[in-house]
Amino acid sequence: MQIIENYIGGKLLKPVSGEYLDNFNPATGSVYSQIPDSDQRDVEMAVEAAKNAFKKWSETPYEQRSRILCKIADLIEENLDRLALAESTDNGKPLKLATKVDIPRASANFRFYGTAIMHYASKSHYMEGNAVNYTMREPIGIAGCISPWNLPLYLFTWKIAPALAAGNCVVAKPSEVTPMTAYLLSEICIEAGLPDGVLNIVHGLGPKVGQAITEHTEIPVISFTGGTVTGKNIAAIAAPMFKKMSLELGGKNPNIIFADCDFDEALKTTVLSSFANQGQICLCGSRIFVQREIYDKFKDAFVEKVKKLTVGDPLEQVNLGAVVSKPHQEKVLSYVELAKEEGGVVLAGGNKVTLEGRCKEGYFIEPTIIEGLDYKCRTNQEEIFGPVVTLTPFDTEEEALEMANSTQYGLAGTIWTSNLKKAHRVAHELKSGIVWINCWLLRDLRTPFGGMKNSGVGREGGFEALDFFTEPKNICVKL
Ligand code: NAD
Repeated sequence: MQIIENYIGGKLLKPVSGEYLDNFNPATGSVYSQIPDSDQRDVEMAVEAAKNAFKKWSETPYEQRSRILCKIADLIEENLDRLALAESTDNGKPLKLATKVDIPRASANFRFYGTAIMHYASKSHYMEGNAVNYTMREPIGIAGCISPWNLPLYLFTWKIAPALAAGNCVVAKPSEVTPMTAYLLSEICIEAGLPDGVLNIVHGLGPKVGQAITEHTEIPVISFTGGTVTGKNIAAIAAPMFKKMSLELGGKNPNIIFADCDFDEALKTTVLSSFANQGQICLCGSRIFVQREIYDKFKDAFVEKVKKLTVGDPLEQVNLGAVVSKPHQEKVLSYVELAKEEGGVVLAGGNKVTLEGRCKEGYFIEPTIIEGLDYKCRTNQEEIFGPVVTLTPFDTEEEALEMANSTQYGLAGTIWTSNLKKAHRVAHELKSGIVWINCWLLRDLRTPFGGMKNSGVGREGGFEALDFFTEPKNICVKL
């Protein structure tokens, strides 16, 4: 049984409580490791360590910070196979996905911000009255970074890397459901020579550790990725303390397929955007709107392709692995039942999958397609975050937009059409932070990432993340 420890002040430490939580392998349903059941006392130690490290780290020349972050990127790359296996075991995702996407992206996050900081400079300008303004971008202090389970190391490093690059120290909490690669990252940081206390990783439950980070008076900036309800809770605590906040929250992303699209391309990509990572990517398109002229043709081809997807042991060559936990499996399946109550017809899937052998107790769900639902019903309005999509026909562009924009969310949207003007027009009308035209999940780290409406507040990515993790200070000099 592997025991995970906290990483505080450069050391791997047991939790103050001495208590541990079970960590499950979702593909087998068995406990395979234990994680610290930390609390406010461990967060306190992490804050102390970060405070002690801050002055030196923030004054460390940026080339040196860059070198250390790039070294971490190198070590993640060198440990690709080990980290990918750990991610797949912890999360249930296919090993090939972790190997191709999750771990390379975690390394890319460190390399991107390790090098971005070399090009990040303050601005200045002359003003009337013979004066010059310059604006310093100073590290804020201790950043609190809280991340979810769906892309564990990928999203954990997405926050930590820019925070550290900008000269902050960090107290971070990975999801208690998928803590393993964050633990392995602490070993990598030690090997890379990251000074003690610059990054501190405290494992444990959200309402204990996450809450203690959010409430801590000496953590002035919080970057959170997770559910909208948790985000609301964090905002309620952090806003009256005037903390700087970036909240990346839930989604219910529309995928609008016009009759004039490249049919084969739209079909192939929609299978991916629906079911990649078992539909557990905040950017997955869960509501598929198809123009009536091609609705039946698309439906038949989509159902045929989806029925051929394989669900199975994530360590084998499968399309879908396990969903992340038993409670999550139950939640997703309860939405299939709700959809039926709301008048939906299940065209494919809809059930849990029971496998033989080592995965017989694992949490698997068939990729599921539902049609016949009103766009305002709960199934079409609430985030399911699993391998379940709905199909809905539309006639006009206006109707598609009305349905697409009808939810509380506004994270990402996808448009399929060969008409350039229409593509741009619809993209401008979609209320979402990210729009893909004739593609999905093409991610460029230089672009701002985040959602509108209840999908979040603020943007990360590119220089936006360095702006977020620094405080601008204007200094005006009379010449
Ligand atoms: P979650 O909100 O349950 O948990 C996220 C993190 O917050 C975990 O580390 C958890 O321990 C912690 N947490 C829980 N309660 C807390 C509290 N009271 N105070 C502070 N921290 C607390 O989310 P999840 O189930 O891990 O992840 C799935 C959700 O994340 C989905 O809604 C998905 O859309 C969203 N997500 C959004 C993005 C994005 O970029 N917008 C990316 C990935 C996932």
